[in-house]
Amino acid sequence: MALASIEAESIEQVDNVHLRVLVDKERNRVVYAEAGKDFIDVLFSFLTLPLGTIARLVAKESNIEPVKFDSISSLHQSVSDLDQQYLTNQTCKEMLLNPRNSMEPYCHKIKLNIDDTEPMQYFLCTNRDCRRNSGCLLSTFKNQICYCGEILSMKVFPNCLNLEDGFVKENATFIICDDLYVMPNVSGASLQLLQKLGVDSVDAIEEQTVVDLLKLSLISNAPLTDFINKNQSFDNSNLRNILIGDMPSDEARQMSVKITLRKSNEQILFVEAEDDFIDFIFSLLTFPLGGVLHMLQGFSSLSCVDNLYKGLSELSSDMFLVSNGLKDKLTKPLIATQYELNN
Ligand SMILES: [Zn+2]
Repeated sequence: MALASIEAESIEQVDNVHLRVLVDKERNRVVYAEAGKDFIDVLFSFLTLPLGTIARLVAKESNIEPVKFDSISSLHQSVSDLDQQYLTNQTCKEMLLNPRNSMEPYCHKIKLNIDDTEPMQYFLCTNRDCRRNSGCLLSTFKNQICYCGEILSMKVFPNCLNLEDGFVKENATFIICDDLYVMPNVSGASLQLLQKLGVDSVDAIEEQTVVDLLKLSLISNAPLTDFINKNQSFDNSNLRNILIGDMPSDEARQMSVKITLRKSNEQILFVEAEDDFIDFIFSLLTFPLGGVLHMLQGFSSLSCVDNLYKGLSELSSDMFLVSNGLKDKLTKPLIATQYELNN
C-alpha cells in the first residue's frame, strides 16, 4: 500500500462525536479508524440492546434502507400482530415489543443513544395508606393492580437511580478496525501524523447515521468502509440468523414440541408447541445482543458483532472502562429484571 494513497478523513459533529478514518484510497477501504469515548460508547451500546429493540431500530428508514433482522424481525412482527387474548396481559405485548435495556443507566448519557425505548418509569399505589406500608409495591409499568386493589399509577422518581457516564474512560482513545474490532490506541500519534497527508471533511455523525452503523454491523463485512462510502443498498439475504451457533445444552430444562416436516427436503413447515415454548421464543426479543454472544461463546453468525464483542472482552477494565465489573455487565448483560420465565 503506497503511503500517498492513504488519507485520513475526519468526521466531526457539532457536539463533537468524532471519528478519524484512515482510508486506503486505491482500494477505497478503511484501514482503521481512531475514536474517543463518545464513538466507542455508541459501538459498545449496541451489545446492550435487546434483540427486539435491534429489530425495531433497523426496520426504520435511515440513509440505508430498512433491514430485516432475520427471524428476530419476524418474531417481533408476530408479537405485534398477535391478538391480546393470547397474552397474559396488556403489559406483555409492550414488554416484548419495546423490551427494556438492563444497561439503561449506562446508556442514558451516551451522546448518540439510538435506543428509543421510553426511559424506565416507576409507579406506586394511588392509595396513601397502602404506600405507607413498608412492603408497598413499585411497578415499572403504569396501571398494574396493587394487592390492595387500587391501581399503581402514581409516578415517582426513586433517588437511588444513578446514571452512569457511558462505558469507556473519558480520555482513552481507540483504534477500530473495519470489521469493528476495537483496541486501545496505545501508540497514540500515528493517525495525527498521517492526517497531514490530507483531511477530508465528511458528514456529521448523528443519530440517523448511528442507525446506519447498527444496520451495517449486521449486514456488512466492512462496516466502516460502507459507513464512510455511504453505501446504501445491500443484499439483505447475506444476513444470517444470529441465533445459529453452538449453545451449551442443559438437559434438565426441556420443552417438547410437535414438528411438521416436509418429507421431500426435511424442511420444517411449522411447529406446534405449548405455552412454555412460546414464552421462550417470545422472550428472545428481550435478550440483549451481548447476552446472546455470551451464550454462543462469542461466535454467532454475524462476524462483525463477534469482533465487537471480542474487542470488548479483551479490553483491560482498569485502564479503559469507567468501572470495574462493567466488562462483565457488558459481555454478559442481563435481561431486564421484569422478565422472569421458568426456562
Ligand atoms: Zn396498594
